[in-house]
Amino acid sequence: MKTLITNIKELLQVRDTSIDKLQGEEMKDLPSIRNAWLLLHDDLIEDFGTMDSLPAIKADSTIDATGKIILPSWVDSHTHLVYAGNREQEFVDRIHGLTYEEIANKGGGIVNSAQKLQETDEESLYQQTLTRLKEVMQLGTGAIEIKSGYGLTLDAELKMLRVIKRLKENFPIRIKATFLGAHALPKEYKDRRAEYIDEIVNVMIPKIAEEQLADYVDVFCEKGYFTVEDTVRIMAAGKKYNLPAKIHVNQFNSIGGIKAGVENSALSVDHLEVMTLEDIEVLKDSDTMPVALPSCSLFLSIPYTPARDIIDAGLPLALATDYNPGSTPSGNMNLVVSLACIKMGMTPEEAINAATINAAYAMGISKTHGSITKGKKANLILTKPIPSYGFLPYSFGSNHIETIFLEGKPIN
Ligand SMILES: [Zn+2]
Repeated sequence: MKTLITNIKELLQVRDTSIDKLQGEEMKDLPSIRNAWLLLHDDLIEDFGTMDSLPAIKADSTIDATGKIILPSWVDSHTHLVYAGNREQEFVDRIHGLTYEEIANKGGGIVNSAQKLQETDEESLYQQTLTRLKEVMQLGTGAIEIKSGYGLTLDAELKMLRVIKRLKENFPIRIKATFLGAHALPKEYKDRRAEYIDEIVNVMIPKIAEEQLADYVDVFCEKGYFTVEDTVRIMAAGKKYNLPAKIHVNQFNSIGGIKAGVENSALSVDHLEVMTLEDIEVLKDSDTMPVALPSCSLFLSIPYTPARDIIDAGLPLALATDYNPGSTPSGNMNLVVSLACIKMGMTPEEAINAATINAAYAMGISKTHGSITKGKKANLILTKPIPSYGFLPYSFGSNHIETIFLEGKPIN
């Protein structure tokens, strides 16, 4: 099956295969072809070029993209898409001025999401999650990482990971699963944190690895949650089972989690709202991708990741949604790209690079996703007619997407 798309106003993020991420100054450049054609063959990008050099191609279907832009679909490298119910009541309580503790006492917080999830059967959890997955696919996300972490018992964590596995099998979107047993300390382990870490390291990780239910491990490394030492233990256990780390660090405090992540070859360090000079220094010459989650900052009214400090220091940066019921009940990568420009001082070129090729690196899929490259997956966004690509972040809150292609096929 060959699909030819012609008269594309601008084909964005056209890259050589050798590029897997961009850092510092490189992020300012967004290579493109104006007045382009693009050929899809089954699920892959076969070829592209300028209209004046369009060869004779026998395609099964041809699409005229006059006035429209094509870019690789967004890659969302950090979400908590599997959850039960929602936490809308906490949102309202917060507006009314209740403290975090008062909200927790009323039944809010991660631990209470866990209780709700434990009581929800697997089929219902799958159905609730696929509604959200379909929604983000329509919003242009063509690859997504999904974490466990609202189970906090072996059974409930396995249930979450099995739901992710089923989604992997049933949808054309690329999915990676991350085991986040260390998201919060379960009530049963109050004052026995070390024993919960033992459970994660000695029981949960081996079982999850045996059933091949996860690609990565994660830890919420933060004051009041898990220490740097806990994080190192879990990363080491993950490494033993070939599960690299992607970790939550520096959301509220800088406690040394970034250094620990880099030393343990973490694929990504995510959140980074609070960054010291030392944190930035440690990331230099590492293979670890920093990931910012600006819609979480928006929802919680907390500082935004200092993107300028990070990029101007020569580092790469990726963007993701953090879609979760507590701090970011939104999986809209278009909004994330807008917020990166509006609130974090990133240029449209930097933001689009951060949400495509660098995000693909943060998911370990930059060989197959994140750019318009021959042989990569034909996961694309075809926009409505718009003046230029800068219009995408500029005209925030509007839907500029006309058609989404996943694995070479338009989805409805
Ligand atoms: Zn998160």
